Amino acid sequence: MILELPARVASNTPSVAYIGDIAYSPAETVKEAYMSRRFAFVALIALALVCCSTLYAQAPGQIAIRAGKLIDGKSDQPISNALILVEAGKIVSVTPGGTAPAGAQVIDLSQATVLPGFMDMHTHILLQGDVTAADYDEQLLKQSIPYRAILAARNAHIALDHGFTTIRDLETEGAMYADVDVKMAIQRGEVPGARIFASTRAMAPTGMYPLLGYSWELNMPHGVQVVDGVDGARLAVRDQIAHGADWIKYYSDRAYFFAPDGVLHSHVNFTDDEARAIVEEAHRLGHKVAAHSIGSDGIAASLRAGVDSIEHGDGFTPALLDQAIKQGAYWCPTITVGAYVAPGRGGNWKPMVESEKKAFQEGVRKGVKIVFGTDVGGFPWTELNQAREFKYYVDYGMTPMQAIRTATSTSAEMLGWSDRLGTIEAGKIADIVGVGGDPLAHIEELENVRFVMKDGVIYKNGFK
Ligand SMILES: [Zn+2]
Repeated sequence: MILELPARVASNTPSVAYIGDIAYSPAETVKEAYMSRRFAFVALIALALVCCSTLYAQAPGQIAIRAGKLIDGKSDQPISNALILVEAGKIVSVTPGGTAPAGAQVIDLSQATVLPGFMDMHTHILLQGDVTAADYDEQLLKQSIPYRAILAARNAHIALDHGFTTIRDLETEGAMYADVDVKMAIQRGEVPGARIFASTRAMAPTGMYPLLGYSWELNMPHGVQVVDGVDGARLAVRDQIAHGADWIKYYSDRAYFFAPDGVLHSHVNFTDDEARAIVEEAHRLGHKVAAHSIGSDGIAASLRAGVDSIEHGDGFTPALLDQAIKQGAYWCPTITVGAYVAPGRGGNWKPMVESEKKAFQEGVRKGVKIVFGTDVGGFPWTELNQAREFKYYVDYGMTPMQAIRTATSTSAEMLGWSDRLGTIEAGKIADIVGVGGDPLAHIEELENVRFVMKDGVIYKNGFK
């Protein structure tokens, strides 16, 4: 008998009470039956935090950040010597040359360039790199979902440590809804990590996503939710949203090849009716849709279905870029993963990187809305800082300021969170990072973030 339908996990807006270094949601603090167990847990966590106190520095009251140079995410030029006042997790004011109010904790970042927290719009916290098909199968066959979730929590912490205060995690690769669990633990302050927009299981039709190629006698796990037919598509969207999905993700295509026309083509997974059902149902329920679309055929199918973001997009043609612009669809290029896996995968992957470079240059020229995304997890979290993506964008023709906007204001806009994230200005959530050099002169500086604040909590400060 169902008396009520509680949401398994709250929206991404933090609603927390701070106890020492740990944040708890108000709902958690009132259940008396659990109090003694919780206090034991708090004591344990507090003990653990004493051992790694450099990670956390929750300060009471106001925090005044003195920024040597501020890239606020909206101005064309940096602001020199700005004072950012933070209180209760929010930015209260930004004043050029301002003075810190009496009693505020002053953070001296006068030697730093300060920016909005970075946002990676294509990650896989449940994946540890899959250059080969064997790498992928091994994770699904030999690692339990609890084990993978532990690594996912570590990965969300790595993202935060690299200055990525927000990530859109685009499917769990067979780990069911474990992304929602990691998101919940971070939201509740149980573990440190980036703010997560979760998409749970993703979707592909029967036979179009690994694990494939095993004996028919075996019932193998799948890296996605297998979805067939219009009714199946609508049900899958409802099911994933019921389990905490913020975004819906589906695989639009597979089997990429260059045709004599020189264009990167692909085989499309869903019928137009199925893809449209996914998008319509998600939109009807107030959620957005990302579609893995590498070849031109997959991109065209995704745009016909009306998706909100095109993932990868290596086969974008000028006509498809025009169509994306017309529809207001975002492009999340994930150049880092292509460059990383191409040598190991061989085949078409290297020419695909070249195809994407050409498309990217054309996209920048035409003004398609590009959001920063890396596909980290497709390459190992521990081997490469995902901020490498910035350098590709600049090498491919963006100005450093344009590249920074992809990971700040444009990403916030795609998420529908422009009122809360993406810039450093009064009223926004206090997600703030700092680097030592000048990223407008050397974009690689963004690969060495030394100060990280998320929700007004300082997680890292190498400027002390
Ligand atoms: Zn991906």
